[in-house]
Amino acid sequence: MGLLSLGTPMHWDEAKKYADHVRTHGIIQFLNLWEATKDSQKDCLLWGDEIEYMVVSYDEENKKAKLSLRVWEILQELAKEEEEAAKDPAKKLLVNSSWHPEYGRYMLEGTPGEPYMGLPRDLLEVERNMKLRRELACKFMKPNEVPITLTSYPRLGCAGEGLDPHHDPHGPAARSLFVPDEIINAHARFPTLTANIRRRRGAKVAINMPIFHDKNTPKPFIDPTIPTYNDYPEDKNAIEEGAALPDHIYMDAMAFGMGCCCLQITFQAVNVEEARKIYDQMAPLGPIMLALTAAAPIYRGYLSDVDCRWNVIAQSVDDRTEEERGLKPLKNNKYRIAKSRYDSIDSYISNDPSNKPEYNDIPLVFDEDIYKKLSDNGIDNLLARHISHLFIRDPLVIFHELLNIDDNESTDHFENLQSTNWQTMRFKPPPSKTSPIGWRVEFRSMEIQLTDFENAAFAIFIVLVTRAVLSFNTNFYIPISKVDENMKVAHHRNAVLDEKFYFRKQIFPQSRPGTPAAGTPFGSPKLSNATLPRTAATNNSATSGASLAPGLDRSDEYELMTINEIINGAPSKGFPGLLGLVNSYLNTLNIDIETRCEISKYLELIKKRANGTLMTAASWMRQFVQNHPDYKQDSVVSEKINYDLVKMIEKINKGEVQAPELLGNFSV
Ligand code: ADP
Ligand code: MG
Ligand code: MG
Ligand code: MG
Ligand code: MG
Ligand code: MG
Repeated sequence: MGLLSLGTPMHWDEAKKYADHVRTHGIIQFLNLWEATKDSQKDCLLWGDEIEYMVVSYDEENKKAKLSLRVWEILQELAKEEEEAAKDPAKKLLVNSSWHPEYGRYMLEGTPGEPYMGLPRDLLEVERNMKLRRELACKFMKPNEVPITLTSYPRLGCAGEGLDPHHDPHGPAARSLFVPDEIINAHARFPTLTANIRRRRGAKVAINMPIFHDKNTPKPFIDPTIPTYNDYPEDKNAIEEGAALPDHIYMDAMAFGMGCCCLQITFQAVNVEEARKIYDQMAPLGPIMLALTAAAPIYRGYLSDVDCRWNVIAQSVDDRTEEERGLKPLKNNKYRIAKSRYDSIDSYISNDPSNKPEYNDIPLVFDEDIYKKLSDNGIDNLLARHISHLFIRDPLVIFHELLNIDDNESTDHFENLQSTNWQTMRFKPPPSKTSPIGWRVEFRSMEIQLTDFENAAFAIFIVLVTRAVLSFNTNFYIPISKVDENMKVAHHRNAVLDEKFYFRKQIFPQSRPGTPAAGTPFGSPKLSNATLPRTAATNNSATSGASLAPGLDRSDEYELMTINEIINGAPSKGFPGLLGLVNSYLNTLNIDIETRCEISKYLELIKKRANGTLMTAASWMRQFVQNHPDYKQDSVVSEKINYDLVKMIEKINKGEVQAPELLGNFSV
C-alpha cells in the first residue's frame, strides 16, 4: 500500500539538477520494459475501479461538518486488514478491497481486492464491492466520522473552520492563504510535490473559477474573504496583484484540485495494440463523461458557474513557468507548453488505419532527443511521440535514496514522469518485466458520484462501452482539437443538457455494425477486432492516411450533438448512441434474464441522466443550496448549508432518504 517512507525528497533547487538523469534513465527503463513486454498476450479482460472518499467529521453540537485529518490512522487499520486477508482465505472475502493514500489527509482511495473478470455476472459484483468497501472503511472511523463520495468539498479553504483537528492556514509547503499544510497527506512525497510545483512555477498556483451570479451576488464580485499575510514573498495582496480575478472564486493551493475525488476505471487489454486502440477510442468520451457525471459546483464556500472539477485540478498543479506559459520569451526553459501536466490528452496513439494523421491536429511539443532514442530502439512514431511528449516535463519529487537504481529491474524513473502526467486517459505499461499484469488503459475524467449505485452504474457503463468498441470495431475519431473544445464546454453549468459536443457521425467502419459471433463470451479476445471481418480497414484504404495530403479537412465526419444524442442515439440520423452500442453488444451475449435486468438498472440511470429525466449531482447540489432556507441568493454556501448538504448526501447513500430527482425510483 506504500504507506512507508520512501526516503528523503529533494528540494526543487536540487531536484532540477537531476531532471535529465531521471528522464534518461526513465527512457532506458521504458525501453527495457518494452523489450520484455511488447509481445505480451493476455487472454481475458481484467478491470477495476478506483473510488476516492472524503472522511467527514461531524460536530453535532454546533451543526458543523468538518474534514477529518485522521485518515492516516484509518489507512493503517485498513492495511492491517489487507495483510490479514492475504493470509486467511476466509477473511479475504470479507475484506476484498485494497486501500491507498491520496493527496488530502482527509482522503481515502479504495479499489476492489482483485480486478474483475469479464463475465457479465461479475458486473453485479461492482456495486456490492463498493458497498463493502464503504462499510469496511466505516469500521475504523469514529461514530461521528463518515466516508462520503463528494467530488469537491463545498467549504474547503473557508478560513478558520472546517478541519478536525483545527489548524490555521499558511504553512511553508503550500503557503496558502486558505488551507494549512496539515491538509496535505503527511507522506513526504505530497508536501514536496506541493512545494516543488510552487518553486518550479516561480509562484503559487492560481486557480480562478467563475462565480455563479445570483440575484444578490455583488457585481463585480470582489471576494471580501481573501486574507492577507506577511510571511512569504508570495504574500502580496492577491486581489491587487491580479492573482485573484474579479467575478471569480480564487484558490491558491494544490489541495483545491488534488483534494477533489474522482472515479477512475482501468482495463487490461489483450495486447499493446488493443490497449492503444482503446486509449484512442475512449479519449473523445472523456469530456462527454465529464459533463454527464458533473458533480462539483461549489468551491471555497461559493456557488460557481462551472459544474465540474477538471480545470480546478489542472490549475492546481500547473508547474509551468512564465516562459513555458508564453508570458515571457523563452530563455531558461526549452519549450512553450500549451497545457498543465493535468489536462486532456494531446495525441492519439493507435496504429489502426482508422487513425488518420489529420486527427492529431494539435501541435505536439516533444523532446527530440528522447524521440530519437525511442525511434532508434524500434518504437514507432505515434508511441515515440506520446512518450517523448510526456517527458517534456520535469520530475517533481526525487528521493535521494532512489536516484541510482537498476534500470533492468526498476521502472521508478519512468513512473516518476508517467504518473505526474495526469491526463484524461493513461496508457499503462505492465508494472514490471516479470509482472503478470498486462498493458492497460485508464479512463480518468469522471467525477465521483454521491452513491455507490451511481458509481457502479458509470463504471459498468464504461467497461461495456470498451467491449462494444472492440466488438463492433467502432471509430470515434474526431480531430483531437475538437476533443479539447468539448473539454472546455463540459465545464459549463448544466452542460449535460444545455450544450452540444463534437462527435463523429459515422461510428461504424462500414454502414452496418459488424456482427460478432453469437454467444461469444464477454471479454474473450475473440471479441477483439482481430476476429471481426477487417473489411473496414480494407474498404477504407482509398481514404487511408498514407495516400492523403496532410491537413485534409475532415469536418464532414463530425457534428455538434447533444449528450442525449451521443448517449441515447438519434434514430432520425441513424446514430445508435453509446447505449445503443452497449445494448447491441449485450444482445450478442448469452446472459440470463436476471443478470440482464440487473445490468439494465444501471444503464437506465445513464440514459436518464443523459436525457434530463434525472439531474446530475451538480444540478442537484445547486438546487439543494438554492432551496435552503439559509441561502440568501448571494452565491454563499454557509457552514449550516454545507452541514445539511453533507448530511443529506450521507442519508441518500444509506437509503434513508429518497432522491427521485437524482436517482429516479432506483433504490439505494
Ligand atoms: P493507479 O492509482 O495507478 O491508477 P490503482 O492501483 O489505484 O492504480 O488502481 C488500479 C485499478 O486497476 C484497480 O481498480 C484494479 O482493480 C485494477 N487492476 C488491477 N490489476 C489489473 C489488471 N491486471 N488489469 C486491469 N485492471 C487491473
Ligand atoms: Mg489509485
Ligand atoms: Mg486516486
Ligand atoms: Mg498547525
Ligand atoms: Mg488511477
Ligand atoms: Mg494513483
